[in-house]
Amino acid sequence: MLPFLRPDLAQTTGYTANPGHGEEPTHPLDALDTNESPFDLPPSVKAQLAIAYQEQIHTNRYPDGSHHRLKQALLTYVEESRQYPHPHLSRQTEPFGLEHLSIGNGSDELIRSLLIATCLPQRGSVLVADPTFSMYKILAESLGIPVVSVQRDAHFAVDCAAAQAAIDRPPAGYPPVRLVFMVHPNSPTGNGLNAAEVEWLRSLPEEILVVIDEAYFEFSRNTLLEAVLQRSNWVITRTFSKAFRLAAHRVGYAVGHPELIAVLEKLRLPYNLPTFAQAAAIAALEQRTFILEGVTELIGEREKLAQQLQTLPGAKVYPSVGNFLFLRLQPEYYPALVTNPTQLYPTVLDRLRQMGTLIRHTGGGLRVTIGDAAMNQRTRERLQAVLQSLVTG
Ligand SMILES: *Cc1c(COP(=O)(O)O)cnc(C)c1O
Repeated sequence: MLPFLRPDLAQTTGYTANPGHGEEPTHPLDALDTNESPFDLPPSVKAQLAIAYQEQIHTNRYPDGSHHRLKQALLTYVEESRQYPHPHLSRQTEPFGLEHLSIGNGSDELIRSLLIATCLPQRGSVLVADPTFSMYKILAESLGIPVVSVQRDAHFAVDCAAAQAAIDRPPAGYPPVRLVFMVHPNSPTGNGLNAAEVEWLRSLPEEILVVIDEAYFEFSRNTLLEAVLQRSNWVITRTFSKAFRLAAHRVGYAVGHPELIAVLEKLRLPYNLPTFAQAAAIAALEQRTFILEGVTELIGEREKLAQQLQTLPGAKVYPSVGNFLFLRLQPEYYPALVTNPTQLYPTVLDRLRQMGTLIRHTGGGLRVTIGDAAMNQRTRERLQAVLQSLVTG
């Protein structure tokens, strides 16, 4: 390490969407490894954006650093989304205002700002329940913030007793837990927070920030937004990268207590959202009924693919309310790999990739993004062929 660098950074690894690629594939790949939408923006929305770029956007000018128009459009959508409250939360009458919203360069930026706002310098640790979204740990470690991991049960519900014990007695040398990250529904496992988990999270004291990551809200149609109006230590993050088909433009948002939001606004870079990204998010919100029609199709595809994959030899598919499926393989089904079961998932991943399908190996299983009907059919056929070849050796 160069002597001016923080030595702890030698131990950290950055995010790689698809680690360990061999040679470059020669055919088009079904990219089903990052939970993007398989659908591009509708051509009419793209055409409208192209005209905006030509006629309204001045590239010599900085973006609107206040995000004002985008926030206005977003507020309407946030309010609409309250029609799908988690059954364990009571509906509040108070409306959200612009003071409850902060917009980030993807929700990744918001996750990093939340870490900076609560845990630096050496002021707090983070708690996560594995398996979960990998960015929490990656971003925390990049800032030198310790991470406490607790386990989930056989249905991937959080072991709340273990989590409470970790908060009561953090590992030796760790600062107190200041931040708890929960994904609703969780990635990679696909399950939403149940009543017991919500109850436990609501019991956490005001000194601990509870972050509910609703990246897949449009697929689960279930939100914990109401809790933000009841508890000053709750914040919801969401993204335009999934259901809204805007992963290319990096737009995410947080809904939280105005004091927390004011701090997030202080921490972000002044021009964190390029003009074109703001225009794209505004256009997507204006056309949301049209764009979110894709969600219904993907939910139907998810249920169909889940049933089909469940019949593959040795595969256990877990119920999911996201735009992806999580499955685990039972090694005893695959005699070809009996001498080296640790090679099971890497082998499956590699062979699928050779056939043209990218999926993700994470959380001790496989996470498969739902694509369009043709992609999903290929996923089923290719996975079937790979698993069958491993069964017969
Ligand atoms: C995809 C995803 C995000 C989105 O991050 P962006 O930075 O907004 O693209 C956030 N959280 C989870 C759990 C995700 O799966």
